[in-house]
Amino acid sequence: MPRSAIVIGAGVVGVATAYALARRGVAVTILEKADGPAQGASFANGAQLSYCYTEALASPALLRRIPVLALGLDPAFRLNPRLNVDSIGWLIRFMMNSTEGRFQANTLAGLALGLEARLAMQELLDRHHLDFDHETPGKMLIYENVDAFASSRKMIELKRKNGAVQEALSPAEAIALEPALLARKEGFVGAVYAAQEAVGDPRRFCEAMLPLLAKEYGVDIRLNTRVSNWKEGRKSVTLSTSAGEHLDAEQIVLCAGIEARLHLKRLGLGSALMAMKGYSFTAPRGETAPSMSITDVARKIVFCPLGGNIRVAGLAELGARNTEIDQRRLKSLTDAAAAALPKAADYAAVQGGWAGLRPMTANSLPIMRRTSPRVTINIGHGMLGWTYAMGSAERVAHLMEEWA
Ligand SMILES: Cc1cc2nc3c(=O)[nH]c(=O)nc-3n(C[C@H](O)[C@H](O)[C@H](O)COP(=O)(O)OP(=O)(O)OC[C@H]3O[C@@H](n4cnc5c(N)ncnc54)[C@H](O)[C@@H]3O)c2cc1C
Repeated sequence: MPRSAIVIGAGVVGVATAYALARRGVAVTILEKADGPAQGASFANGAQLSYCYTEALASPALLRRIPVLALGLDPAFRLNPRLNVDSIGWLIRFMMNSTEGRFQANTLAGLALGLEARLAMQELLDRHHLDFDHETPGKMLIYENVDAFASSRKMIELKRKNGAVQEALSPAEAIALEPALLARKEGFVGAVYAAQEAVGDPRRFCEAMLPLLAKEYGVDIRLNTRVSNWKEGRKSVTLSTSAGEHLDAEQIVLCAGIEARLHLKRLGLGSALMAMKGYSFTAPRGETAPSMSITDVARKIVFCPLGGNIRVAGLAELGARNTEIDQRRLKSLTDAAAAALPKAADYAAVQGGWAGLRPMTANSLPIMRRTSPRVTINIGHGMLGWTYAMGSAERVAHLMEEWA
C-alpha cells in the first residue's frame, strides 16, 4: 500500500474510497472544492442502494427507441449530446454496448460490483454507527408492458445464477406485498421484487463519514480546495490547488464525478464520460406511502421511503450541460409521479427540487483503474454511484495494494 494518498472529491465515491484506504493504514487527505461533502451528484439522488437492479443503460430496447428519443417524444428521456469528437466517440461505444450480449455482460458485471458493495456497506455498518436513514425495505419494479416484463423475467434467471435474489410477481402478489400500489389508476402486468435492497441518504452518509474519518482514521479533510493540476514525480505526485497551494502524496485517486472530465484528456480518456441529468424532489409521506422502493419502469421514476419522507427521482437528459433546474422538467416529474402513485406523497407540499449530473460511461460500469504509477481513477458511476461506491472503493484499494 502507498503510505499516503490524496483523494480528489468528497461525493459518495471519494468518501468511500478515503475510508477503504484509511482503514488499510494509508495517510489520506481529501480535497473537495465545495464547502461541504456531497455537493455534486451525491446531494439528493434517488437514495436507492439497488445492489441487484444493475441493468445497463445501453440495451437493444433503448437502441430501438433512439428515433423516438431523438425526436424528443419521450418526456422521461432526452438526447442532447454535443457534436464533438469526445461525444461522438462516447455515442459510438454506447451503440456498440447495446447488443443483447453486451447488455447482459454489463448488467452482470454491475451485479458483481453491487454485491461486493452490499458486503462492504454491511461491514462498515457493523463497525461504526452511522445515521443516514439506512434501511432495507426491499424494492419493486412495476411493469406495464408485456414484452418488457418478459425480458425482465429472463434477466431474473440470469441474475439468480450470479448471486442475486429477485422474483417475478403477478399484480395481485405485488399488491399483497405493497398495498400502496392499490392507489394506482393504471393497471400493470407484473413486478420484479427483491427483499434485500436498501435505501439511505447519500448526503447524510457523507456528512456522517467525514467526522468519523477524521476522528477514527486521522484523515485530513480540506474543503473549499479545488485541485487544478498535478505533476507526477519518481517518488511522489504534487497537486496544485486553485489557491496556489502545493501538496505532495505517494498516490492520488480521482473521484471527481462528472468534473473528472476536465482531467481525462491528459489521461487519454477524453471521451470516457457523458453527463446525464436527472431530477429529484422530497415530499412528506402521502396517505398511502409505499413501505419499500418502487420503480415505475414505463415512467422511469423511483419512489423511495427516506426517513419520514418520500424521495422521488427520475428524468434523463443525455448530454446535459448544467445542473440548472428547469421548472417545466421538475413539474413533469411531479406530475408523472402523481399519475403513477397519486397517494404516495403529499405532492402539494413539494417545495423546489434538485437536479444533478450522472457521470455515465458507455457501458454503465465505473472506471476503476491505475492510469499511471501515481494516479488511480474511480469515476463514471452513472445511475448507480451510491449503490456501487463502497464496492468500487474496495476494488480501488485492492488495485493500489497490488501495485505498491
Ligand atoms: C437524479 C439522480 C438520481 C440518482 N439516483 C441514484 C440512486 O437512486 N442510486 C444510486 O446508486 N445512484 C443514483 N444516482 C447516481 C449517483 O448519484 C452518482 O453516480 C454518484 O453520486 C456519483 O458520485 P461521485 O462521488 O462520483 O460524484 P459526485 O457526487 O459528483 O462527487 C464529486 C465531488 O468531487 C468534487 N470535485 C470535482 N472536481 C474537483 C476538483 N478539481 N477539486 C476538488 N474537488 C472536486 C465535487 O465538488 C464533488 O463533491 C442518481 C443520480 C441522479 C442525478
